[in-house]
Amino acid sequence: MAYTLNKKIRDLKPYDPIQGDYQIRLDANESFYNLPEELHTAVQDAVAHMQFNRYPDPVAREVCQQFAAYYGVDPELVTACNGSDESISVIMTSFLMRGDTVITLSDDFSMYRFYAFLAEANVIEVQKREDLTIDVDKLIETANAANAAMIIFSNPCNPTSLGLKREDVLRLIRSVNALVVLDEAYMDFWDQSLLDRVDTFDNLMILRTCSKAFGMAGIRLGFTVANKTLTDAMKAVKSPYNSNTLTQKIGAAVYGHPELMRQRTKEIVHSREALSVGMKALLEQYPTGMTLYESCTNFVYLKTALAKEIYDYLLDNSIAIRYFPSGYLRITAGSREENQAVLDMMKDFFAARQKAVTE
Ligand code: PMP
Repeated sequence: MAYTLNKKIRDLKPYDPIQGDYQIRLDANESFYNLPEELHTAVQDAVAHMQFNRYPDPVAREVCQQFAAYYGVDPELVTACNGSDESISVIMTSFLMRGDTVITLSDDFSMYRFYAFLAEANVIEVQKREDLTIDVDKLIETANAANAAMIIFSNPCNPTSLGLKREDVLRLIRSVNALVVLDEAYMDFWDQSLLDRVDTFDNLMILRTCSKAFGMAGIRLGFTVANKTLTDAMKAVKSPYNSNTLTQKIGAAVYGHPELMRQRTKEIVHSREALSVGMKALLEQYPTGMTLYESCTNFVYLKTALAKEIYDYLLDNSIAIRYFPSGYLRITAGSREENQAVLDMMKDFFAARQKAVTE
């Protein structure tokens, strides 16, 4: 007898982010802030009083309440997940039937396609415009023509950094029968959230995460917010103890310091603005046909024919950013020093190149 992997998973490779000891990590859109000092005691208390022998609260009541209070939503409409990655996986495998059509956008967060594939759904990828903005009419038309069961996209978008206005997202939700999964992983950095509208639609699920503005990527905590029917279904299909006790406790402590978190979010936005301004100045000084997009997130996105060369040069100098073979670079906003280091290094790159061309 011999067991063979099914053909769906036979050729899959584990997720492989950049690994290694780089001095500066600006490749994963994390926060450059670690846990605030004010929360160290809360975390130590959580560990000291943890009942390691007991299962976690299956509905993560306390952290969902703190999350709901922070955003002004009804706690009954919130489900905690093990990072929003898990939310996407659970939604795809449960809210779709095999062969259902899912609409994704290109470019967008790559995991949508991956989980849709595992759910054995049929994926239609709607192309964005040349300037990377979303053509909402085309999206609506495609979804309705295909009788799509689900539309999923990030707003603001990873990787493009661009945002779609509330009115446009509302128009989309109203114009389709599909379930709209709106991934607001980066919405803490922008002001066009639809969290206040979840209970007015029966086809909207919003995903949020602790991994970006809240600097908690390491504890794996995300949330799904939707109307009562969708939330009941989400709670019924997720694994019972998906969010562990320590994560729930730390998450509750983090959301319990709303002023601190708002302040940090603002500082991250300032850092992104400083990085954008520095980048614009660099592009003016060295005009190489590079495009910088208007960011609504904690990272900047660039289109350049030199993407691979710049990426390699930075990596050789111990700075990790994200490279896309289609000719784009994504750079997470870092601390003031980290931003300066990446700008200085890019300047060195352009200066050396200019020198080589003129010699
Ligand atoms: N959605 C988007 C758009 C993301 O960029 C990411 C993280 N890269 C995620 C979801 C997953 O976040 P989490 O850490 O909560 O799983």
